Amino acid sequence: MSEDSLSEFRTRAERFFDSTLPAVLDGVDGHRNRARAWRGALYEAGLAGIDYPIEYGGLGLGSEFKAAYTEISAGRVPTEEGTFGIGIGMGLPTLRDHGTHEVKDRFLEPGLRGDEIWCQLYSEPGAGSDLASLSTRAVLDGDEWVVTGQKVWTSGAQGADVAILLARTDPSAPKHRGISMLALPMNQDGVTVRPLRQMTGEAEFNEVFIDEARIPRDWVIGEVNDGWRMAVALLAHERVQTGVSSTLGDATSRSKAGRAPIRVSEIIKLAGTQRRLDDAEVRQELARLYSNEEIIGYLRRMGCHPSIGKLWRTIQGRAAANLAGRLQFRAGPAWDEGDIDPDWFAFQMLNCRGMSLGGGTDEIQKNTLGERVLGLPREPAIDKDVAFRDLRTGTRRPNNG
Ligand SMILES: Cc1cc2nc3c(=O)[nH]c(=O)nc-3n(C[C@H](O)[C@H](O)[C@H](O)COP(=O)(O)OP(=O)(O)OC[C@H]3O[C@@H](n4cnc5c(N)ncnc54)[C@H](O)[C@@H]3O)c2cc1C
Repeated sequence: MSEDSLSEFRTRAERFFDSTLPAVLDGVDGHRNRARAWRGALYEAGLAGIDYPIEYGGLGLGSEFKAAYTEISAGRVPTEEGTFGIGIGMGLPTLRDHGTHEVKDRFLEPGLRGDEIWCQLYSEPGAGSDLASLSTRAVLDGDEWVVTGQKVWTSGAQGADVAILLARTDPSAPKHRGISMLALPMNQDGVTVRPLRQMTGEAEFNEVFIDEARIPRDWVIGEVNDGWRMAVALLAHERVQTGVSSTLGDATSRSKAGRAPIRVSEIIKLAGTQRRLDDAEVRQELARLYSNEEIIGYLRRMGCHPSIGKLWRTIQGRAAANLAGRLQFRAGPAWDEGDIDPDWFAFQMLNCRGMSLGGGTDEIQKNTLGERVLGLPREPAIDKDVAFRDLRTGTRRPNNG
């Protein structure tokens, strides 16, 4: 890779964000239309799939190019990119690293171009933190998998074209060893999506009922019955996505779709407006939030375990939203006309709770760090070697709440 090509790349990226993108988005209405327009334009400008192989629609470039893009795009990526969080952020990298040629050929290019929106069908009513207890079944029938089961908390399922699905393909194997990862086409008769309304007022996630839905036989990611390894690989991308990367870009964005913790600079402004900058307690909390914001920046540059980023995101998110809320809402937990940006701050206060659950709860991140980073003894797992079909069924296991 030559200096010239890196500088050409930088020029191309600057030009794209300065002039091409504003012109492309001008007059485009509706979240989904804007999302597709943004991603399509990025692809056409030769800036999508930087570290994806050329044969699958990527650019085949190294980490210097990715770092240059990250720097140039910071704070300039439209919030509609969130629509592709599951595809671009988690699903496609997993496909790229573990998919067969057929799977990569079918999904990578349309995914990078934004033609297909992905969702993630992992959690079930009886399988959340204990995800390996999932009971959605996929049975081979000729050239197709036939899938039946129920998923829940599926973000963005209502607008998704394809899902990363975890399904049980061998109930005679122990629970971690009989799962496969498949790509499920969402627009078919066997898939019913029902929105669930959250306390933010949004219906971001859904219940998904799957009744004999069909998947082509080849659309398995990794090997059949090796889905647990794939699931863990994808979760690592998810924790990076919801954790460390949520500290990037979006620094000044007040968009709900940004989901990053409220920046300390915003809260300092708010404290100034409310004449609370001399308040010792407020100053102390601001100092703590500021230090945490700086520390995660250093950790990110040094490279840290994804669970640290994920935990940081939820702890900082809650503390920042709580302080902002206390400064903002003169009427306590309610708010009135005179408050600044009440919707945005209220949204942050309500939304930060769910962030502690999605992508693995805080307790699960701590378990991961304890076991995999600190080397503490693993949690006892008495059902690890028992065939899934011999496990207790029909009741929710204690870990599933
Ligand atoms: C905003 C949001 C978006 C989501 N999006 C998706 C999505 O797109 N796709 C998807 O598949 N899922 C999604 N989820 C679901 C999410 O992954 C689950 O909520 C999460 O894994 C926890 O599972 P659960 O809700 O069943 O809680 P449970 O697993 O029942 O946990 C209940 C409580 O017990 C604790 N607990 C459980 N096990 C342990 C343990 N071993 N040690 C210590 N504490 C434990 C948990 O920390 C939690 O506090 C989303 C959730 C949210 C909130």
